[in-house]
Formats: sequence, C-alpha cells, structure tokens
Amino acid sequence: MSEIENVVIIGSGPAGWTAAIYAARADLKPLVFVGVPKSTPSIVLPGGQLMLTTEVENYPGFPEGITGPDMMANFQKQAERFGTRTRGEDIVSCDFSEKPFKLETSKGETVLANAVIIATGAMANWIGLDNEMRLARSGGGVSACAVCDGALPAFRDQPLAVVGGGDSALEEASYLTKFASKVYVIHRRDAFRASKAMQKRIFDAPNAEVLWNKTVIDVLGEDVITGVLLKDTVTGEESTLDLRGLFVAIGHTPTTEFLEGSGIAFDDAKYINLDSRSSKTNIEGVFAAGDVADSVYRQAISAAGMGCQAAIDAEHYLSALST
Ligand SMILES: Cc1cc2nc3c(=O)[nH]c(=O)nc-3n(C[C@H](O)[C@H](O)[C@H](O)COP(=O)(O)OP(=O)(O)OC[C@H]3O[C@@H](n4cnc5c(N)ncnc54)[C@H](O)[C@@H]3O)c2cc1C
Repeated sequence: MSEIENVVIIGSGPAGWTAAIYAARADLKPLVFVGVPKSTPSIVLPGGQLMLTTEVENYPGFPEGITGPDMMANFQKQAERFGTRTRGEDIVSCDFSEKPFKLETSKGETVLANAVIIATGAMANWIGLDNEMRLARSGGGVSACAVCDGALPAFRDQPLAVVGGGDSALEEASYLTKFASKVYVIHRRDAFRASKAMQKRIFDAPNAEVLWNKTVIDVLGEDVITGVLLKDTVTGEESTLDLRGLFVAIGHTPTTEFLEGSGIAFDDAKYINLDSRSSKTNIEGVFAAGDVADSVYRQAISAAGMGCQAAIDAEHYLSALST
C-alpha cells in the first residue's frame, strides 16, 4: 500500500494534463495515471484522442496549428515542469466508499488518494475496419470529428461522406456542406433517428445526398482515402463511392466502465454527472473533467477548461480538509 496521495488524476488528455498543471502549480504534487495503449474496441492512447489527429487548428495560441501528438507532448512537459509525477498504467477500479479513496492499478497495486480527478475521456466509435483505422491513424482522410477536421485544406471542395443517422451525424454532415463539393450521408437504415429539424437541414442542402440502406464494408486508398466500398443492406449489392474524406459519426462511448460499482453517478449514456456549476461529482472529493463528463462540446479547449476547474475545486476541497 502506498503513501496517501493528495490528488490522483486519471487520464492524460487535455483535461488530465490541464488539471495536472494547475494542481502542480498549487503545490499538490499530483500523480497522473496516463493509461495504457489499447486498440480494441477503439483506439485509446496515453495523450488521449488528439494523438489520433494530425493538425489541430482550433486550439487558441497556435496560429499556425500544431499536430495533436506535439500538443500533448507540450501539455505533459508543462505539467512535469511544475512537479507532476506520472505512471504508465490504467486505473482498473475505484473504491470511493471511504477516505482515503482506494484506486487499483492495472499492475494490481492499490493507490490511496485524498482527492481524485477523473479525466478518462470518451472514445469515438469506429466502424472497425482495418483500412479505416490505418487511415485514421495516419491522417489519411478518415476522422471521427468533422468539427475538428472538416475545415482542413485537404477536405475543401472535395467529395466527403459522413457515416451515421443520429443528430450528431447530421450535425457533422451539415457542417461539412460549408466546405465540401458534395457530402454523402451513409446510413444503414431507410430512416434517420435524428430530429426532424436536423433532417431538414440535410434534405435542404443542395450539396448533400443521403445514401439509404448502405454500410461501409471497406475504405479504399493507400496513403489517403480514395473511396469506400458500400454494401446495400437490403439487396446485398456492392458498389464503390469516390471520396476524399470519411467522417465516422456513430456515437461516443465515455470511458467509465472502470467506475462501475464505485458509487459515481452517471447519466443514461454513462457520462459522469456533475454538479451544474462545478466539476464536483456526487462523491465529495471526486471530481471529473473533459469528455468523460461532457457529451455536448467534446473539444480540446473545453476539456482543458474543465481540467482547470477540477484542479481548482480539488485544491479548495483539500484546503478545507486540512483546516
Ligand atoms: C480524430 C479526432 C480529432 C480531433 N481533433 C480535434 C481538434 O482538432 N480540436 C479539438 O479541439 N478537439 C479535437 N478532437 C476532440 C478532442 O480530442 C477531445 O475533445 C479531447 O481530447 C478530450 O480530452 P479529454 O482529456 O477529456 O479526454 P481524452 O483526450 O480522450 O483523454 C483520455 C485519457 O484517459 C486515459 N484513460 C482512459 N481510461 C483510463 C484508465 N482507466 N486509467 C488511466 N487512464 C485512462 C487515456 O489513455 C487518455 O489519456 C478530436 C477528436 C478525435 C477523435
């Protein structure tokens, strides 16, 4: 059993590192669990979702843009500069029933903490095709975030497609119609789940076209995407569609499985519930930040902002404990 940590931060994306920068500068000597790389069911890497993107053009302070991995290396360096310590493991379960809190690591150790910040993000759901993952990792025109990547020069005036049929898929498709020569919405059914208002936006867009009853069974192209292979879900017929960008919008899964049974309150989709004006969860001393508690904005800057809030809330909580 370890000494009692002031604050343990679980996760090393923008939320986790920002919480670490603030906590370290407040002299709390935070310990960050950066997580273990995984490739199923989705890609999860230390450094978080930005490790999967080439250019980040919308994070303030980088007028020329910066690659996701460079940005996360800078976040880490800044956190370590003020005394943040890191461990390259996952937290696999949490016991928040008594204080200090008990966290079990993927190496089977128990870590004790007075305060915990959960910043484990949410995984974009992918179709699960080898070529899809290869081109997503290499920046070859496959992405899970149109708001993040849609405005990049490679996608402008090009034929693009969005896979999905919910509100976020149609929102992403509608966003892409501003830049693309054509936006196909590929949906496996013959009707959308999305709201009527969102559907109208797509039906009214002159450069959008819905491909009903189609699934993507392969992504084509060596270094960059050149198209997709489609299968008709009714007739079984296969066809190819020429594309220069594919945006997969089939939902996100918050990384909260390891919190099952810990007493943390979730919403229906398993995002962590927060006190409406802070980073406080339903358990005193446990805070959450970033995409794990945000099903709406899901951006690096909003995750970083929440990381800042969580560290300040944790500092107030710890100071109150010691007085
Ligand atoms: C392809 C793609 C491109 C994007 N591009 C942009 C962009 O250009 N601009 C922008 O603002 N946003 C972009 N986003 C969104 C942005 O990446 C996220 O909003 C942001 O990364 C969320 O930060 P986070 O810290 O909450 O979580 P994440 O970045 O998801 O980080 C979660 C961290 O938790 C760790 N972890 C998970 N489980 C455990 C565990 N049990 N124990 C320990 N560690 C754990 C993971 O290893 C990871 O380090 C993009 C997203 C994707 C998928």
